[in-house]
Amino acid sequence: MKVIEEEHPVMVMEGPWSPVEVIRGIVEGGQEDPFYVMDLGEVVARYHHWKEMMPRVEPFYAVKCNDDKLLVSTLAALGAGFDCASKAELQFVTALGVRPERIIFANPAKPASHLRWAAATGVTTVTFDSETELLKTKQYMPQAQLVIRIRCDASSAQCPLGIKFGCDPVAEAPRLLKLAAVLGLTVVGVSFHVGSGARETAVYARALQHARDLFAAGGAAGHRMRLLDVGGGFPGNGGTCIREVSAVINGALETHFPNKDVRVIAEPGRYFAAAAYTLATQIHATRELPAKTTEDGAVEKHTMYFINDGVYGSFNCVLYDHQQVVAEPLEPSASCAQPCSVWGPTCDALDCVLPACRLPPRRAGDWLLFRDMGAYTIPVASAFNGFPTPRVRAVVDKRLWSVLKDLWPLTEINFSFDGIPAPQTPLPSPETSAPPSPSDPSPHSAHS
Ligand code: PLP
Repeated sequence: MKVIEEEHPVMVMEGPWSPVEVIRGIVEGGQEDPFYVMDLGEVVARYHHWKEMMPRVEPFYAVKCNDDKLLVSTLAALGAGFDCASKAELQFVTALGVRPERIIFANPAKPASHLRWAAATGVTTVTFDSETELLKTKQYMPQAQLVIRIRCDASSAQCPLGIKFGCDPVAEAPRLLKLAAVLGLTVVGVSFHVGSGARETAVYARALQHARDLFAAGGAAGHRMRLLDVGGGFPGNGGTCIREVSAVINGALETHFPNKDVRVIAEPGRYFAAAAYTLATQIHATRELPAKTTEDGAVEKHTMYFINDGVYGSFNCVLYDHQQVVAEPLEPSASCAQPCSVWGPTCDALDCVLPACRLPPRRAGDWLLFRDMGAYTIPVASAFNGFPTPRVRAVVDKRLWSVLKDLWPLTEINFSFDGIPAPQTPLPSPETSAPPSPSDPSPHSAHS
């Protein structure tokens, strides 16, 4: 492994390397604060994998999942669209040079000021799931290209969303489509979100069947239905298999939407963000609890390890995203794993990362790694109690960087908002919106 440049914002690597080796190198350099190593190649590989598996489905990355500028700029450079949920996310993405036509404002309950800002910026594809949102849209964005969000939940999901968003596809949606027509609003499509970290694949087929019926109902109400948004719920690492999910979606598209004039988009978050980020944390304190005798007479010790990131920082995902994180020692050890717990740095007893796990004995100064930490961690983390949130160190293979660098200027055009509404155009076809993608980055062959 050889770092050949550390050019902001990435470390450019030559020769074989892995995120763990990069972490070792950084730690040996005297690092003490927690940090992420972000593998840019993983993001690019996943983008190409998506395109191969679901050529008909354009990914609109859900910015809420991880708003790390490098991740978002990379996806923008590759040609992805974006799902934004607020004015700040819209500002962030448009400031990277992403055209409004490549953005869906996919929050069915929007503050009026955010909707007004979107309208003035030219972002007109917006979701809704209620009568009041239709009335608000009529007032602040009468030119909207509306997408009705329906509820269709996976039988199990890491973070179910249906309790909050999505109208009933049978009992409510047809009436809302008619109301939109009466109000003179334009509905162009149907969206849903089966739940983040969905643990069922067949749900996408059920949702597409509902969407097909609503395309018919929308048509009957006078709308020209042409956009299908299959939402998020795609696996990061673990859970369902993306291949299985794509087989279900591709099959259901053939069955229910054979007409290729229907544009199909998705709003993946976790799929792009999770696996690219490995978190490195340092143990700064340990505490041995008094040994206990178990029911079968064995004497059991328990060590508490205190690390420099916790549930108020990156591990908020344990509370909010119901993630099961796994601690891995950076330094190899021949000793047997012992019962232990891992705690965050703040003075709050809730700040527990792992209440019960097993690790070979560790000392203060040792490092613990957590893989797949890119989804729903960074944007939520706070510096509560004065503990800084981890810095991201991005790493990229030299060959891939040479391709990405050339695409970069596309994302560096500053979008300046001068208050003049941009032309209102519907979502364009991918040919007009996407810059070329790197010919053959195959980043992973060089990484592991
Ligand atoms: N779209 C919407 C509207 C969401 O609320 C979310 C997550 O909460 C996503 C997309 C991203 O979902 P996922 O990370 O499961 O792909």
